[in-house]
Amino acid sequence: MSAIRTFSEAASAAVSPASLASTAAAAAASVVAASASASSSPAAASVVAASASSPGAGTGATGHRAPRAPKQPKAAVDAGAAPNKRSPKPAASGSSSSSSGASGASGSGAAPKKSVLLPSPLPIADIGINLAHDHFARDVEHFLRRAAEVNVTTMVITGTSMRGSVEALELARRHGMHATVGVHPHDAKSCTTGTIPKMRQLFTSADTASLAVAVGECGLDFDRNFSPQDVQMKWFEEQLKLAVELKKPVFLHERSAHEAFVRILEPYMPQLTGAVVHCFTGTDAELKKYLSMGCHIGITGWICDERRGTDLAKIVHQIPLDRLMIETDAPYLIPRNIRPRQSQNEPAFLPYVLEMVAQCMGKSVEEVARGTFETTRRFFQLPESALPAAASS
Ligand SMILES: [Zn+2]
Repeated sequence: MSAIRTFSEAASAAVSPASLASTAAAAAASVVAASASASSSPAAASVVAASASSPGAGTGATGHRAPRAPKQPKAAVDAGAAPNKRSPKPAASGSSSSSSGASGASGSGAAPKKSVLLPSPLPIADIGINLAHDHFARDVEHFLRRAAEVNVTTMVITGTSMRGSVEALELARRHGMHATVGVHPHDAKSCTTGTIPKMRQLFTSADTASLAVAVGECGLDFDRNFSPQDVQMKWFEEQLKLAVELKKPVFLHERSAHEAFVRILEPYMPQLTGAVVHCFTGTDAELKKYLSMGCHIGITGWICDERRGTDLAKIVHQIPLDRLMIETDAPYLIPRNIRPRQSQNEPAFLPYVLEMVAQCMGKSVEEVARGTFETTRRFFQLPESALPAAASS
């Protein structure tokens, strides 16, 4: 699409000079240096200070630890306050990519209207995409086309319930992708004695075995407690046992439950093929613990959030590229470094996560793209045939 600019052009155009990305770029470099010797740095504080005055701060976004207003007990998702229903199309997904307006332009007068799409220079993989969500159901092809335009070539669709896992597998089959099969802690209370046998069947039956690449999303969420904690723990462990039996990696969710989560997971680590703590948003100590256990880490647009992501931005550099993967968790967790701001996330926005991770790590976008892509391929044991032949540019 002609509206797409090169990565670096778009990166600078997509944000105004005083906005998060440029601030964070400068700060991140300092943070990387500073965090080697101190846990808090003036640079990090400046990110908070600078961004606190940005337009729209404190509104709109939703996420893992956002305070919840009304209860949404059926939402097996990461973003508690995220609308779990059909909603108006985001501006950028309208009939024309230029319909998103020029409010993100930074004072160049008659500048052409800009697309919010930011192409990655190399193929990248979204390891956490809720493609079975109603938001995408209207026109999956539309969202996949946009993702392909920005070099998001590979996706692992998240299964969060038995029904959702079956839907994820069907989408994977139809669109040449892969999926996880599991039950999110929010849905643990729906598990029965038939759940694990049903999961086993999806991993082993001829028509779905090659599509199901990990057990999960499973784990513990003591933040919202949509399922009782003892029930969550029981079904988390049952799914770990299944992963060991099937020799499949696990796709893990942990929210406000680090200690119990480690207590259950750690004994299984030597037997597990692999474990990724998806959408990691925890503390420095929690990150160090997960890395010491041999876990992989998934990073979402949380890191782009100038209000809640600054702690994560300071510690992400500790994750070796062979343990790091990136994800959108769309339609939740919109990267807040997109200009103009978007209301709902989609896989085409993954390059914004890539960009921020690269800045925070002090590495090039290309290096992080290449590293996370290779890690994804290896972790999920994706077949060569599922991968793009070459980068598009
Ligand atoms: Zn999750």
